[in-house]
Amino acid sequence: MFKKILVANRGEIALRIQRACRELGIKAVMVYSEADREAKYVKLAEEAVCIGPAPSGQSYLSMPAIISAAEVTDAEAIHPGYGFLSENADFAERVEQSGFQFIGPTPESIRIMGDKVSAKQAMIKAGVPCVPGSEGELPDDPAQIRRIAKTVGYPVIIKAAGGGGGRGMRVVHTEAALINAVQMTKAEAGAAFNNPAVYMEKFLENPRHIEIQILADKHKNAVYLGERDCSMQRRHQKILEEAPAPGIPRKLIEKVGERCVAACKKIGYRGAGTFEFLYENGEFYFIEMNTRVQVEHPVTEMITGIDIVKTQIMVAAGEKLPFTQRDIQIRGHAIECRINAEDPYKFTPSPGRITMWHAPGGPGVRVDSHVYTNYFVPPNYDSMVGKIIVHGDTREQAMARMSTALAETLVEGISTNIPLHRELMADAKFMSGGTNIHYLEEWLRHHKR
Ligand code: ADP
Repeated sequence: MFKKILVANRGEIALRIQRACRELGIKAVMVYSEADREAKYVKLAEEAVCIGPAPSGQSYLSMPAIISAAEVTDAEAIHPGYGFLSENADFAERVEQSGFQFIGPTPESIRIMGDKVSAKQAMIKAGVPCVPGSEGELPDDPAQIRRIAKTVGYPVIIKAAGGGGGRGMRVVHTEAALINAVQMTKAEAGAAFNNPAVYMEKFLENPRHIEIQILADKHKNAVYLGERDCSMQRRHQKILEEAPAPGIPRKLIEKVGERCVAACKKIGYRGAGTFEFLYENGEFYFIEMNTRVQVEHPVTEMITGIDIVKTQIMVAAGEKLPFTQRDIQIRGHAIECRINAEDPYKFTPSPGRITMWHAPGGPGVRVDSHVYTNYFVPPNYDSMVGKIIVHGDTREQAMARMSTALAETLVEGISTNIPLHRELMADAKFMSGGTNIHYLEEWLRHHKR
């Protein structure tokens, strides 16, 4: 096992990884930008290294700064968390070339999955069902593009091969709008992801977003840890997740889970990963794979009792998965609310000093957050300040616990989206379960303030 790991991230996930290291008896080196000097995990750290000024380009995205921090502290491995450099194959490569273990899959796996076109091709080969669409990247010829769209059938969605974070997508309803939309998406993709390649998919009208968590080791063992329902989204960004997904037959989940495991074995995948699917009319359609730990991983931890971050570290150190598929039991129901520093209905960011932070507690309640009373939320990064996760024997109990937990939570000095979550917990449609990816935006339109 490693003696020392460098945590190349910030915020709640940095604290989460630090906690996993503590449990494993590993020293965690924290890195921080000048804006994050006051973060809880930096204060709690045995060792912390300032890697640059606030802008992430000069700190959390600076490969030389992070690798030198690992060198000067004698860390053996680097955990990238999520976001930042976590899905950057060049970073993973440089980490390994510098003699450190990258806690994640191989650079090759990241490269294949990071390009959504090659990811889809790999999945089709492995027998994972995909959204119907163009075979690979769209050509330049407008006539050909129109032909492909006609075959796929309108509405279609144009997506950037290198896209992520809900950006680089455009829905097209008619042929008249097609070429312009392709060109705009290409231009945006070139600027934002340094890769102008785009592809086309059938736009599914009312799907749910269901994803499968997998874990794999370096000895060809892989398991799936059930599914998560992440359909509550705004602008393709998840705000609330739950597991299991209400109303989907277990048999179907098992079938698709086994396919994901088979795909992992086929591509030699190692570490934690998520297969994202759209689910409509009883069918699963693969959209992309995330080759890292995800924000919503705690709901899976709550229903399986498996520590995903600890397992990531163990398999990176070369250990075998300590469980087989048969050992994995789903128990109860879990929900996660992402707490963002933003206006709950207008969504404008609300950074600044938190003058009062009171976290909820009680049975089945977990809070993953790096903030505290008097903490200053820097304006430079993602607005998420923490996550409240609850577990119950049933979905009803989990929802009741979440309502209580949200009511107990006190945040002053900044605005958060807690009022929105409280309303959603009392929403009849959401309570009945199985709402689709458009539900939250429709709800917001009807509850305009
Ligand atoms: P990103 O990597 O940016 O998160 P994804 O491919 O995972 O992009 O898609 C994000 C979200 O966009 C999905 O959860 C879904 O809401 C929507 N979406 C993507 N592809 C389709 C599609 N073919 N039909 C309908 N909605 C889609």
